[in-house]
Amino acid sequence: MRVGIIMACTECKNRNYTTDKNKKNNPDRLEVKKYCPKCKTHTLHKETK
Ligand SMILES: [Zn+2]
Repeated sequence: MRVGIIMACTECKNRNYTTDKNKKNNPDRLEVKKYCPKCKTHTLHKETK
């Protein structure tokens, strides 16, 4: 049930992280605060395809 996902910065749309999630436990889009090297600060990152 684990699927690979890409986390993209909501500020600059840069795709900074790849991770995986359990689709059964997390059917919704993941939102995580992570460091964006382009924004040079912590921003909200959302799951993308
Ligand atoms: Zn950014």
